[in-house]
Amino acid sequence: MAEHGSVFAAMLKEFDRAARILKLDPGIWRILTYPKRQIVVSCPVLMDNGEIEVFTGYRVQYNVTLGPAKGGIRYHPDVTLDEVTTLAAWMTWKCAVAHVPFGGGKGGIACDPTRMSPRELEALTRRYVAEIVDAIGPEKDVPAPDVNTNDQVMAWVMDTYSMHVGHTETAVVTGKPIEMGGSLGRREATGRGVMIVTREAARHLGLDISRTTVAVQGFGNVGSVSAEQLAGLGAKIVAVTDQNGGVLNPNGLDIPELVDHASTHKTVEGFPGGDRIDNEDLWGLDVDVLIPAALENQITMDNAPRIKARILTEGANGPTAPDAHNHLHERGVFVIPDILANCGGVTVSYFEWVQDRHGYFWELDEVNARLEKKMCEAFADVLQTSQQYGVDLRTAAYMVAIARVGTVTKMRGMYA
Ligand code: NAD
Repeated sequence: MAEHGSVFAAMLKEFDRAARILKLDPGIWRILTYPKRQIVVSCPVLMDNGEIEVFTGYRVQYNVTLGPAKGGIRYHPDVTLDEVTTLAAWMTWKCAVAHVPFGGGKGGIACDPTRMSPRELEALTRRYVAEIVDAIGPEKDVPAPDVNTNDQVMAWVMDTYSMHVGHTETAVVTGKPIEMGGSLGRREATGRGVMIVTREAARHLGLDISRTTVAVQGFGNVGSVSAEQLAGLGAKIVAVTDQNGGVLNPNGLDIPELVDHASTHKTVEGFPGGDRIDNEDLWGLDVDVLIPAALENQITMDNAPRIKARILTEGANGPTAPDAHNHLHERGVFVIPDILANCGGVTVSYFEWVQDRHGYFWELDEVNARLEKKMCEAFADVLQTSQQYGVDLRTAAYMVAIARVGTVTKMRGMYA
């Protein structure tokens, strides 16, 4: 096994469990536990105060067996090589579960973007891209937004790459503004995917989705769109929290009004259409569906025993600690794991890349219809594996992913 820190070791535990059940060939097993390529670069930037600062940037291509590496770029003071490597591994399994022809990658810069001016952020982004320019590209590695990066940052990535190669290359990144090659439906894709798998889970469990009650943690891109989409199916969204607090209305929150309130006040706190609740109160609510859509490690053994929901859809990445997950599974909670539940985002990123390469853009209806098909297929594949092997859905999702990457690794064979 490769030498890595604890986050990577936790990912490997999950991997090993699935690989053992699959009776994975030991050689393939060994290959899949090493990152293909880890790049560390120093990015000097002339700051607004006239001083030069040097930031450390990373890009990891964990696996490119199925296609170009795919994964976001994160700007955060705590970014480390271990974290970026683990996130790149997760992207490998997520793309394989989504059944899109991408490998897994991730990038990051250790910086505090909240203390940087737009000019400094642009300079840092352009220098970072210049340092990794030979390693990325539509056929090599296709970045996207992640924590603290957005469509503007992607526009700078695309422009810097295009300047280096001498022509406009839109397919080098996804999550771009629509005007410059972004896809319709990309912004809503993750939340729409969360709705689709939740609806499929309800159908599987014999629940009528239009009669379910739902609680959502996090009201950003994923949480707010998931709430809107599920409310669109008739589900009652009874509670929503964010980092400042939360609101509860047992008769159902008016989601369009809550979206308006959150966009004006930057929080759901103070929404007049419900009563105030604390973040921690969310977990024990008597609801059918619980959607963590904020941060990692939110559900632990401190709150998991209080959870009453029948379905837990992981909109966020890694929201459930491993022991809490085992506890919930044993209690019969239907946990839809992150690499399946939130793969709608990367699926429409794949559609964006396809449209850029064709230079032909789809109507929103076409994007959504194709997303619907991909999500239903991914859900059915994972459910079928879970039933066939008698395992939880997280292990099943890893098994689907590892089998896909492992099979192609074997077919391609060893080079030299
Ligand atoms: P976002 O920044 O738009 O929203 C995050 C939300 O979480 C905000 O409402 C914030 O107030 C809330 N939050 C933060 N800390 C909290 C706390 N301690 N308690 C309760 N709420 C808290 O982020 P996003 O794009 O919606 O991403 C959310 C999660 O989904 C992340 O784990 C992300 O990695 C994952 N994800 C996002 C996408 C995507 O396409 N945006 C795709 C796949 C996975």
